[in-house]
Amino acid sequence: MANKEAIVVPFLDLKTQYRTIAPEVEPAVTRILAEGAYILGKEVEAFEKEFAAFLGAGHAIAVSSGLDALRIALQALGIGPGDEVITAANTFIATALSITGVGARPVLVDPDDATANIESSTISRAITPRTKAIMPVHLYGLPADMEPILALAKQHGLPVIEDACQAHGANMNGRRAGTFGEIGCFSFYPGKNLGAAGDGGMVVTNRPDLAEKLRRLRNYGQERKYYHVDLGGNHRLDEIQAAILRIKLRRLDGWNQARQGHARAYTQELSSMPLVLPRIPEGRTHIFHLYPVRTPRRDALQAHLTSRGIGTLIHYPIPIHLQPAYKHLQIAEGALPVAERMGRELLSLPMFPELTAAQIEEVVAVVRSFFA
Ligand SMILES: *Cc1c(COP(=O)(O)O)cnc(C)c1O
Repeated sequence: MANKEAIVVPFLDLKTQYRTIAPEVEPAVTRILAEGAYILGKEVEAFEKEFAAFLGAGHAIAVSSGLDALRIALQALGIGPGDEVITAANTFIATALSITGVGARPVLVDPDDATANIESSTISRAITPRTKAIMPVHLYGLPADMEPILALAKQHGLPVIEDACQAHGANMNGRRAGTFGEIGCFSFYPGKNLGAAGDGGMVVTNRPDLAEKLRRLRNYGQERKYYHVDLGGNHRLDEIQAAILRIKLRRLDGWNQARQGHARAYTQELSSMPLVLPRIPEGRTHIFHLYPVRTPRRDALQAHLTSRGIGTLIHYPIPIHLQPAYKHLQIAEGALPVAERMGRELLSLPMFPELTAAQIEEVVAVVRSFFA
């Protein structure tokens, strides 16, 4: 049998997507450069309005990254030293860094084995008199089960800050992720479902008082020019990024649908393999920021895929409590077994809207050959 031409499948391909939007992006960027207004101008304002409308949120405040979004969300709620914030042990480091960044303590809970999201029952057991907020993460693009979390939060008088940095446009019972809690936080890191050509983020809220405070916090705590009422920072999104993100936002639902199609194909073609595949609970949409599969033979599977030109990544190999930076939390190995097992067994397959049928077929064939 003749050897077929090897098909290379990158984990993520931003260049192919850029070619589809270049005819709109390039004149927009050139226009902004020529106009000479680079910070907090009309592009940022328009993008905030459009993003709020996209989500069905009352207010959107553009910021410089997902981490900054989370951090000013905590600051706006007055959370600081001595306070505890409950979040997931298996999240990206930024979630925890936002909490330690304001001087508070992250209280890590183990995720649900089936969805990888934290749930109200485990969150409930982590609540103490020092708890000041709950920060669920809509991990991999699947919304966490928000209704019981909101009920629990209400019962204890706690605000909910959603880390929606992987869930732009995902919804649950008809509501978009990021609009359930007091504040929702998004990242526009280039690899996210909605990504800038650099860093960016967004904070959304339905509360006008919080919106006002968040707006000040992102811009030196300034209420009016050279009059500062909060100890804010410089967490602004710039005009060029906002212009690019406006162009991309119009395509986001379509791109998410393309990801969902790829996920369906993976799920259909891999369901007979000894792998745990992503599941979508009733009433939720998954926007497949990532498509992680699970197997105890993860490292060997990854090596096999790499040797055949298929890019994969691990999200995330080391849970927060086992990171050297969080040694001071003094949480021993074995304490959060679900998160730890996910760190050993999860492998994210290539996932981006522009994946071709031939690329998906190749990934499937190479995974099958590993288990054959
Ligand atoms: C990407 C991400 C962040 C941080 O976003 P940045 O824009 O990189 O600062 C926070 N939380 C989660 C879950 C993320 O995936």
